[in-house]
Amino acid sequence: MTRMECRLLVWYEKNARKLPWRETLNPYHIWVSEIILQQTRVAQGLPFYYNFITNFPTIKSLAEAPEDAVLKVWQGLGYYSRARNMMKTAQIIMRKHQGRFPSNIAELRLLPGIGNYTAAAIGSFAFNIKMPAVDGNVRRVAARFFGLDDPIGTQKSDQLIESLLLDEMRDCPPALFNQAMIELGALVCKPTSPSCAECPLKENCIAFSENLQEMLPVKIAKKAPKPIYMDYLFIESENHTWIEKRPDNGIWKGLYEFPNTISNGNKLQPNPFHEWFANSAETIMHEPRTFKHQLTHQTIFATLWQFSCKEANIVEEKLKNKIKISVSEIYQFPVHKLMYRFLTEVN
Ligand code: SF4
Repeated sequence: MTRMECRLLVWYEKNARKLPWRETLNPYHIWVSEIILQQTRVAQGLPFYYNFITNFPTIKSLAEAPEDAVLKVWQGLGYYSRARNMMKTAQIIMRKHQGRFPSNIAELRLLPGIGNYTAAAIGSFAFNIKMPAVDGNVRRVAARFFGLDDPIGTQKSDQLIESLLLDEMRDCPPALFNQAMIELGALVCKPTSPSCAECPLKENCIAFSENLQEMLPVKIAKKAPKPIYMDYLFIESENHTWIEKRPDNGIWKGLYEFPNTISNGNKLQPNPFHEWFANSAETIMHEPRTFKHQLTHQTIFATLWQFSCKEANIVEEKLKNKIKISVSEIYQFPVHKLMYRFLTEVN
């Protein structure tokens, strides 16, 4: 029995949350849950999980689904590249693995969007492979428990944590050990004010014995996100509007949005869309509204310009390559999170 093993598992049996992906050995369901949980917390992720599994109940159904249908189901989670990678992975599994998830870590790692953590999670939960699954929660618990003072999140640090945990895992069922570590990080060894008094690991925890909980884990300093300024155009014309599809590269690729431009400054520009309208006197301009939208490496300041007018008043050339739809139809298109905010926060 190792320093962690016994108490950790007893604690997990008593305290684990009942979650659908913990009650199954189906690697497809486990994989879907893991990718969704990279995007959001458990409570918010549950409805997305059920919706995804209902729409695409098997790996085959996902492999054969049209991209727009998958993106639509993914809407609200952000990082659409993850949904696209899931489609690619499903297609590879159908083509090369006869529709079955590979049952070894090396082959899982070769699939798009599956990194060390996800491979270890699928491998241990579905196939009982002895491999620690090191995610953000586990890194934090391990850094505190072992008193690791090098920055976490690097390849070197992950390898060290993996080997230390592999040793602690010993004869333990890998799925239980990994789930217990993840759950302990989520419920007890939280980023701030961990509940050490309730922790099954406290007797051997270095951070607890040396009062280092707030100093560990050490994190690599992040670069400040870059600001981007954008203007979006929402025209309402006799119950219709215009949208466009983003190109197949850059952020939000392939998603739909209102016509837009990138601007340089952080000050509200005079109407950047005045050239769209033949007669400004016949165009009603509503109060523009600026949205701050945070991405990992960028902060977008997007101003939504809303106009009402007759279609005959819009310069025809501007509508080239735009898609005319009825305003209510917009919800049928996969849109990015910022666009979703426009639609839900502006009436
Ligand atoms: S004793 Fe405290 S710091 Fe150590 S693992 Fe438990 S909750 Fe985390």
